[in-house]
Amino acid sequence: MPHTISSSRRLIYILLLLVITASITLSVFMERTAHNIRRNETPLLNHTIPQMRYLGDFESALLRYQLALNKRFTESITPERFVFLENMGRGELDASLAQLRPSLGDGPELGALRDGYQRIVALTPEFERHVGNDSAAARAVLVRMNEEVKQLRVRIDSLQQAVEDAIYDNGGMAHRAIGWITGLVHVFDVLALVTCLFMLYHVRARVRVEDELSHQARHDPLTGLAHRRSFEVRLATLPPVPHVVVLGTIDRFSRIIGGFGHAFGDRVMIGLAARIRGAAERSGGEVFRLDGANFAILFRMECSDPAFAEALSGLRDEVRNPYDCEGHEIYTTLSLGAVNYPQHGANPDALLRNADAALQAARKAGGDRVEIYSQQLNAEAGERLDMEALLRHAIEREELELHYQPQQALHDGGLVGFEALLRWRRHGKLISPAEFIPLAEESGLIVSIGNWVLEEACRQISVWQAETGQRVAVAVNISPRQFAAPGFLTHLEDLLATTHIDPSCLELEITESVMVEDAEAAIALLHRLRGLGLKLAIDDFGTGYSSLAYLSRFPIHKLKIDQSFVRNMHAVSEQGAIVQATIGLGHSLGLTVIAEGVESEAQRAMLSNWRCDEIQGYYYSRPLPAASALNFLEGSLQLQAA
Ligand code: C2E
Ligand code: MG
Ligand code: MG
Repeated sequence: MPHTISSSRRLIYILLLLVITASITLSVFMERTAHNIRRNETPLLNHTIPQMRYLGDFESALLRYQLALNKRFTESITPERFVFLENMGRGELDASLAQLRPSLGDGPELGALRDGYQRIVALTPEFERHVGNDSAAARAVLVRMNEEVKQLRVRIDSLQQAVEDAIYDNGGMAHRAIGWITGLVHVFDVLALVTCLFMLYHVRARVRVEDELSHQARHDPLTGLAHRRSFEVRLATLPPVPHVVVLGTIDRFSRIIGGFGHAFGDRVMIGLAARIRGAAERSGGEVFRLDGANFAILFRMECSDPAFAEALSGLRDEVRNPYDCEGHEIYTTLSLGAVNYPQHGANPDALLRNADAALQAARKAGGDRVEIYSQQLNAEAGERLDMEALLRHAIEREELELHYQPQQALHDGGLVGFEALLRWRRHGKLISPAEFIPLAEESGLIVSIGNWVLEEACRQISVWQAETGQRVAVAVNISPRQFAAPGFLTHLEDLLATTHIDPSCLELEITESVMVEDAEAAIALLHRLRGLGLKLAIDDFGTGYSSLAYLSRFPIHKLKIDQSFVRNMHAVSEQGAIVQATIGLGHSLGLTVIAEGVESEAQRAMLSNWRCDEIQGYYYSRPLPAASALNFLEGSLQLQAA
């Protein structure tokens, strides 16, 4: 479009230049033509046209003189009357000759007229002498006089013809000039019209481009929704009537990107944004895309309105519907946080802060829910901040400890190793990692906490080895942020070098979400870790979105089937089928498969039937403090020996 505009602009300049040139040319031409017409008109009016009249007068006078002669010859007038008419005729001829002088000048034309006239007048005394006496002589004189009159009239005719020609010439010239001017005016009109049409076209195109630009300036290019800046402007100019401001996020959207890549994520985002918009607009809401998977929706109602509950449930249903993208069924949910305007905040800052607190509460509660803002939420947010401050000092205050959950081989029932699970002991109470790991992730504390866990696990491996003479395998959970942190690899190398443990005793559990940012870099790092001799496992397998193509490229040893599948596999046949298929998949890739969260004999038996390699769960043992884990280890060693 900009290219069309610049070329049409050039065309307009050319056309305008043509119009201006044509108008100047036209003006000059008209001026010159008018000047020429005026110049030719003056002599025409002053000389040529009067000359025509005086020539006519002269001819009439001549004819009257001739008539008087003829009447005298036929004696139809008396001699006295003839003398009177002859005198009068001569006077008329003299007068008209005098009138002709200014236009004809004293040149040969006037001379010829005067000579002819004088020759006639000179014959008059001879005619007078013969008339009445000698008719034949008088007739002869009259014939000569008539002959002179005839010649004089021929001369007058030719002079009149010359005058007529001059008038015609002048008229023709004016006619042609008017023809030219009319033609030029037509050309000018056409040119001006074409220019106007092009200008109209250009202006229309420009307006369209301007509209498009102003739309782009206010909208997100990917989804076409209004963007964060528009949302802020909208919030700042809200009229003082009740509104609900809703912040929403698509739960675990990063897993989709991690599993299928950014381009795929964009396509899913476009589809979901259209659904969110459609659902929100049906209830009169306005949708904005803030960033990533975050949206804002504005409704002109209150949180307590039944219509609001209806609008949000419509919205969540719309997102919850599986989204089919390039043959993949994508399941997503929405977390939403809502505030009332102006009740929960009269300015954009307060509204956004409180809506965000509500959203975070919805996410913290597991996502796929709506949280409406209350004072208590802020108190909880404050508590989270307090907890973060306390967690910061947990390592130096030695409040962290590791518990170890045994893992069992299904083929012989023997102990294969432990999973190290973090605990935070505060005032004698144990806090679950589920409560503080997300907080540590958010604040970045996970890196130092994770390092501590690795050091402690390595220390424990070497202590147990020293105490039992056995190499004990310990699996450690690595969070995505810790995995992506610079220095992760070097820290591990240093640790292996200083503790001298067998690297194959240490297993790193990573989740599929480590692929979120940069799958290629993650795969490269996994290769380096494997190169160190470490064992690698994928934790919570089946809950992420990793594609099988990626999985086959992960240089891992073990798949850990997530406990959510194990929990219901005997009751829900689909879950059983998933577990069975995962075991088959793991084996076909040459991986060891372990099932988490095994709580009953029935579950163990099923897994054993399906040739699962290992299990972990309350059925075999709960996570144990280090001392109890040592007892468990010694017991199992004795069993093995027996
Ligand atoms: P996870 O790695 O999947 O660990 C398994 C969780 O399931 C543990 O919860 C464990 O106590 C629990 N569990 C084990 N057997 C059973 C069972 O039979 N039934 C049930 N219902 N649960 C069972 P825990 O210790 O609360 O840890 C929760 C999550 O916290 C872990 O999930 C892991 O993702 C994370 N986590 C734990 N320790 C660490 C750590 O040191 N670093 C990092 N980054 N994350 C950790
Ligand atoms: Mg784990
Ligand atoms: Mg797990």
